[in-house]
Amino acid sequence: MRLILLGPPGAGKGTQAKFLVERLQIPQISTGDMLRAAVKDGTPLGRDAKQYMDRGALVPDEIIIGLVRERLQRPDCARGYILDGFPRTVTQAEALGKTLEALHASLDHVVSLEVPTEDLVLRIAGRRTCRNCGAMYHVRFSPSQTDGRCDACGGPTYQREDDREETVRRRLAVYADQTAPLISLYEAQGLLRRVPGTGEIGEIFHRITTALGA
Ligand SMILES: [Zn+2]
Repeated sequence: MRLILLGPPGAGKGTQAKFLVERLQIPQISTGDMLRAAVKDGTPLGRDAKQYMDRGALVPDEIIIGLVRERLQRPDCARGYILDGFPRTVTQAEALGKTLEALHASLDHVVSLEVPTEDLVLRIAGRRTCRNCGAMYHVRFSPSQTDGRCDACGGPTYQREDDREETVRRRLAVYADQTAPLISLYEAQGLLRRVPGTGEIGEIFHRITTALGA
C-alpha cells in the first residue's frame, strides 16, 4: 500500500505512522531522516544537499525529489510505504506523480489527519520539557508531580520557543496555507481520506485503518 500521511504539527502523525508501519509492515519514509542519512553517507545527492543545509538554506525540490526517487526503488518499498513530510507543496506532489509514473506505480491513499486548531494549540502550548534530561510533560494531560520540576531528574521544566502559543499559531497557519492546495489536489484525484484526529489514540488508528480498508 502506498500512502501519504498529512497532518499539522501536533496532530499525532508520528504516533499513527508508527502504528501503521507495524500493521502494514511497510517503511515510513520521512524526508528529514532521508536527508540526514544521505548527508551522513556522503551520496552525490547528500553532498549537494549539505551545501544548502550548511548555509541554513532550504534544500531545493530537485534534490528532495531525487532522494525520494532513490528511496522508493529500494527493496523494502516493494510492498509499499508511508510518505511522511513529503510532498509539502503542489510542485512536489506533481514531481512525485511523475516519479511514480516512471516507476509504474501509483498512490493508494492520502490520509489527512484533521484536528481543530484550538485543540492543536492546547496540545502543543501545554508541553513542558525538562532542561536537564529532555523529558516531556503536558500541563493538562501529563503534568509532572511538582509544578516546574521534572519527575525523572528533578531538573527545571520549561516551554520551548516552538511550543509558545503565538509560534504554534504561526506554524499552524503556514501549514494550512501550504497544505490546502495539496489537499484539494488529492481530493480531486479521489485519493483523499479525511480522518478526525481527536479522541483516543487507538480509536484514531482504527479510523485510519477503516479508511484504508486495512
Ligand atoms: Zn529531567
